[in-house]
Amino acid sequence: MEFNILKHFKGLDEMPTDPLKADEIGTSLFMTGGMGPQISEKMDEKAKAAGMSRRNFIKSSLGFSAAMLAANEVTGKKFFEVGGAEAADFDAKNEAIQLARAGSDFIVDVHTHVCTRPGHYQLGVNTTERGMWFVQLLDDLGKAFGMPNGTRDMNIENYGKLILMESDTTVGVFNPFGFREDYGGRDMIPMEYQVGVRNSWPQNTVMLAGGLTPNQGLEVTLDRLRQYVNDYQISGLKLYTFDSTPNKGWWFDDEKLAYPIWEECRKLGIKNIGCHKGIPFGQFYARYAHCEDFDATADDFLDLNFIAYHSAWPYHKELAAMKGFKPQRKNLYCEVGSTFAATVTSRPMECAHVLGTLLRDLGPDYVLWGTDSLLWGNPQWQIEAFRNFQIPDELVEGYGYPKITPEIRRKVFGENAARIWNIDKQAAMSAKADLTATAHA
Ligand SMILES: [Zn+2]
Repeated sequence: MEFNILKHFKGLDEMPTDPLKADEIGTSLFMTGGMGPQISEKMDEKAKAAGMSRRNFIKSSLGFSAAMLAANEVTGKKFFEVGGAEAADFDAKNEAIQLARAGSDFIVDVHTHVCTRPGHYQLGVNTTERGMWFVQLLDDLGKAFGMPNGTRDMNIENYGKLILMESDTTVGVFNPFGFREDYGGRDMIPMEYQVGVRNSWPQNTVMLAGGLTPNQGLEVTLDRLRQYVNDYQISGLKLYTFDSTPNKGWWFDDEKLAYPIWEECRKLGIKNIGCHKGIPFGQFYARYAHCEDFDATADDFLDLNFIAYHSAWPYHKELAAMKGFKPQRKNLYCEVGSTFAATVTSRPMECAHVLGTLLRDLGPDYVLWGTDSLLWGNPQWQIEAFRNFQIPDELVEGYGYPKITPEIRRKVFGENAARIWNIDKQAAMSAKADLTATAHA
């Protein structure tokens, strides 16, 4: 993500969490977000019902179910399908976890990151002030979610440990950060480092390349693209259309600067092209975070898939309209990383509207699961939240949103991503089983 969460989740940094216990992270977010004070108050009676001290209860897996129940009570709406026993009894909770896992056991997290590189980031040496601002933001996130050394802990080892071994994620799609103008002329996360993730867990990762900025020179951009494919066998792109040079940004539908990239992708066999949309963070300009440039591009390159990362939130309605009014479209996708994480615990009504709009207009075959981890720590709390999340009946009736059925959940969680990246589900699942067995041996 790229969203100053410590401002939105007040006191989160004072609630230390253990990254191996993702429930704690979810509970902390519920207790510090928009409904934090009311939820926090309700935790007392729920701890009592479970026969536990408040402190132990909040740190337990029951606490997370209790926080979801409390959110239903505070809002008077059923956003979370959680039974009372799951917040009071460990056997009932474990049974619910097994049942949910059986219903959605294949999970492709389309939005994952590591956040360091050899030599790390040093102000004035290999990083500008703007670059340090972003590192600091990521450091704060990492620390809030139990990684004491911030970005230094968001490394290859913890990628495997927290995303692939300690969460139910089957496959992580690996997203790069470019921004080399702020990081000494090298990508913030260089390809040489990223490839370490893919080589460590080849069956459970998909590697994307990034850092293409045609506004800084088209020929060099095309050379980089060819090098990514030839040297690193990438499986797609995740780009940013804004940068911190005086050029400020570029558009996907720029026929001179961008179309040559998509034509080259065609030649090279690269089909999936993602872009950061929405979340207009930091020093970047919001106009480049809108998604209107996907409109013409998607029509002019029908054989390529375009994926709006973050689902363009808070401009997700613009994205959804491009399909809602052009239902014939088959190459427009969205991904929910950070958008889901930032809203589900704090503003579930907004979360329901965003997911409802995407599922209604883009359709259940075009919404992809993503968590933006390791930025939000171990992603298991997000997986559990989505397994329990529902769009309340009032919104289904008033807005025509679909209910989130088990089938829709499976599509969003993994089947859609497996289709567009040609992921061998059986191979990934058996490699995942081996990994989990090693981790818990
Ligand atoms: Zn991200």
